Amino acid sequence: MASIEFVKVSKHFDRQPVIQDLDLKIEDGTFTVLVGPSGCGKTTLLRMIAGIDPQTSGTVLIDGKDVTRIAPGKRGVAMVFQNYAIYPTMSVRENIEFGLVNNKVPKAERTRLVETIGETVGLADYLDRKPSTLSGGQRQRVALARAMVKNPSVFLMDEPLSNLDAKLRVQMRIELIELHKKLGTTFVYVTHDQVEAMSMADTIVLMNKGVIQQEAPPEVVYRKPSNLFAAQFIGVPPMNIAPLGEDRSTFGFRPENAVLAAEQGSFHFSAKGEIATREMLGSETIYQVKTGDGRSFMVKCPDDVFHVDQEVYLGVPADKLFFFGADGNRIEE
Ligand code: ATP
Repeated sequence: MASIEFVKVSKHFDRQPVIQDLDLKIEDGTFTVLVGPSGCGKTTLLRMIAGIDPQTSGTVLIDGKDVTRIAPGKRGVAMVFQNYAIYPTMSVRENIEFGLVNNKVPKAERTRLVETIGETVGLADYLDRKPSTLSGGQRQRVALARAMVKNPSVFLMDEPLSNLDAKLRVQMRIELIELHKKLGTTFVYVTHDQVEAMSMADTIVLMNKGVIQQEAPPEVVYRKPSNLFAAQFIGVPPMNIAPLGEDRSTFGFRPENAVLAAEQGSFHFSAKGEIATREMLGSETIYQVKTGDGRSFMVKCPDDVFHVDQEVYLGVPADKLFFFGADGNRIEE
């Protein structure tokens, strides 16, 4: 196991700064998810940890040690990518033990390790198969096993599930959570998918344009977003935001926290409007409500009781409202 620390780290590509003076501490044994929109610098952070693409300035520490001069292969980290590199002509067993053969680990020890790891990732019955006869999820598990065999103290994963179909992704998310529990190793996982981040992370590091917006457990990012960006990045549909006054300050509420009714109720914020669109998803329905003054709000309801063009009252209780200053930062009530 190992902690990871960035101290005043900057990264430039062709003199263009992508990350500037970034400080971050990833605690030992956590499942940390780096999340943010495309191009925000998530992969760049991961590659700096791995040493594949070192920082321009600042220090990266693994387990308290400055790794600037340590080669990628000697950092005790293993990386799993979206396009996992497995050798098609080798069996699953040969793929997993490849690194061990290179490191001259004796045959008996190799066999024992491959079988233990094969068991851990659910591939015990597939060790003598060729990758082409496996499903996408099984192939992804071969890639994980290849990383595990190195016994790394840090696992770095860059969108490892994005080539899998939606159902398999959900299953693999659960398997990765289980694997993390079993190994107790530090996991650093990169994704642009906020659902993936929310469901797997014990710590979310939310980034935008190379800058950390918030670093907190998922429920804290959801309940206490630090700013407008965090408020709107986490949650589907995103938080509704509307102006408060003249000075660019705003208020917001989550679609799942608004109440729709045919009659006006007593709420801290209420508005009269019409249902503009209705999206029935089975267990919930998402309505878009347009108000007389041209505003539009998304509302998520457990019941499917309103129809398009119907007049409704939208209400939000005081404790479900968020307030943001002119600088975009959330104001604590
Ligand atoms: P995605 O989710 O799309 O993978 P990301 O958050 O991982 O995005 P990075 O790959 O870290 O983003 O890229 C951050 C920025 O750095 C982007 O603007 C990208 O264009 C730039 N960048 C990354 N690698 C290079 C490179 N080798 N040369 C020049 N610019 C680069």
